[in-house]
Amino acid sequence: MIASVLPTYNRAPLEFVKGEGSWLFEADGRRFLDLGSGIAVNALGHAHPKLVEVLSTQAQNLWHVSNLYKIPQQEKLADLLVDHSFADTVFFTNSGTEACELAVKMARKYFYEKGQPERVEILTFDGSFHGRSSAGIAAAGTKKMVKGFGPLLPGFVHLTFGDLDGVTNAISDQTAAILIEPVQGEGGIRPVPDAELKALRQICDEAGILLILDEVQCGVGRTGKLFAHEWAGITPDIMMVAKGIGGGFPLGAVLATEQAASGMTAGTHGSTYGGNPLGCAVGCAVVEEVMAPGFLEDVNRKAGLLRQRLEGLIADHPEVFEEVRGSGLMLGLKCKAANGDVVAAGYDNLVITVPAADNVIRLLPPLTLSEEDIAEALVRLEKTATQIEAA
Ligand SMILES: *Cc1c(COP(=O)(O)O)cnc(C)c1O
Repeated sequence: MIASVLPTYNRAPLEFVKGEGSWLFEADGRRFLDLGSGIAVNALGHAHPKLVEVLSTQAQNLWHVSNLYKIPQQEKLADLLVDHSFADTVFFTNSGTEACELAVKMARKYFYEKGQPERVEILTFDGSFHGRSSAGIAAAGTKKMVKGFGPLLPGFVHLTFGDLDGVTNAISDQTAAILIEPVQGEGGIRPVPDAELKALRQICDEAGILLILDEVQCGVGRTGKLFAHEWAGITPDIMMVAKGIGGGFPLGAVLATEQAASGMTAGTHGSTYGGNPLGCAVGCAVVEEVMAPGFLEDVNRKAGLLRQRLEGLIADHPEVFEEVRGSGLMLGLKCKAANGDVVAAGYDNLVITVPAADNVIRLLPPLTLSEEDIAEALVRLEKTATQIEAA
């Protein structure tokens, strides 16, 4: 008999009842170090006092009104994002894949309004992930995500990750945009080198097409900048954000330049919940916290420390781990042992990591983790590796 919850996930036998900072608790009191943050979502850890305060206060006043009315919390969050990024304007969604939907629609509408309606194609890369909506799966094109779900949304051209010549060759008079994650998350923490992001920006400028960045996983302080593309010194035309921006409240956004967004006039897009007062009150608190003086410096310092310690772990356990890669607190340990076994052994040793493609385990800890948490992470990962070696 089918489970009452649609069985689309193979769930680990863990059940948490409470979270605090970098820690998750089961009812029996077992205490896990959370290096997954609910897949890069709990950017400020669990039950951050400021987020709890903001959410409870907002909950006592007003939850939802719909976008038929002005929402001051939404305007404040949009202003904050515009002030701290390339963007001139923001649309709020409830998830990353909804942000992908709008990014695709926006790019196509831009060219339609420019009198180039044939420009509908979007170039994407293998190993990418853009969510599970019809546009998201068609964009990524991963076999296991699209199989059986056709007909797929047309207009995506799948290219080889890292092949710049392939990009240049794929551009035609039907190309609207390039869509890429600055650091691939699900694909196994594969960063796009700064020089390559710069080259993609240049290719877009020369071809007169749009650069869409998917920063759903790598954005909001995760790499040590508010947005990952800042490291490369470039800006996109359109950017998708979600995961970390709500700190655990379902919230996403599409940020865009005035020009890229110019086709999106009244009535062209909408969302019932997107940008509601609860979500945006929390989003404001998250962004304010991440932009607070010293916060990102601290992320970078801790990221350096964690990475250095992980290099040591790999050196001590060459049978289990191969390399560490990534940016800031978005790190991947490429495994020699099966990554699923390493994640499961981590559970035995009360440390949570997240598997990814390319036999990688992801470390996406709360950005607020402490140095003691890092020390504890290494103790637990060390035990995990030892357990794998003994198996
Ligand atoms: C998680 C993710 C998405 C999809 O976000 P959802 O909120 O699950 O819809 C899209 N792009 C990237 C890069 C992601 O990591």
